[in-house]
Amino acid sequence: MTEFDPSLITGTLIHYYVTCKREAWLYSRKIHADQWDENILMGKALAEIKEEQLQDFPFSNLKFDKIGKQRGHYLVTEYKKSMSNPEGARMQLLFYMWQLKTSLKLKQINGKVISGRRVVFVEGNEANMKMLEELVAEVSRFLERPAPPPFALNKFCKGCGYRDYCR
Ligand code: SF4
Repeated sequence: MTEFDPSLITGTLIHYYVTCKREAWLYSRKIHADQWDENILMGKALAEIKEEQLQDFPFSNLKFDKIGKQRGHYLVTEYKKSMSNPEGARMQLLFYMWQLKTSLKLKQINGKVISGRRVVFVEGNEANMKMLEELVAEVSRFLERPAPPPFALNKFCKGCGYRDYCR
């Protein structure tokens, strides 16, 4: 029996999966990282500051930092306090773009993630959307496993809120 409902997959979960599969599994089971972790507290503070700038969409509870039209297509912008894993940030934003595109039946949507001076552009072309759909299916299959993969030290452990839990 499936223990994880695929409709519960979020952009954050996609980011975690691309960063560390163990982290994604723990998060999916609501085993939350240390709430006093500096990175998490900083993220919460930033989220509160940005709250007024966020736009709500009537079709869902999705929220983005900024969405606008640029030369005939939609452009979603997301600001991050840090970007230790640009690939994770890219896939997270692509997930949001995919949700917007399919929900609103948009023709073209692109995105960018901004962290300090760093900017990562995300193209919403067909190949990327297909890759995202395959990733979502892969994450769903992965999250059906009854236990997380074992701890394996990696370059993201140092800044991870689960580091005390894992070691
Ligand atoms: S501490 Fe390391 S192994 Fe554990 S969840 Fe975080 S990144 Fe993954």
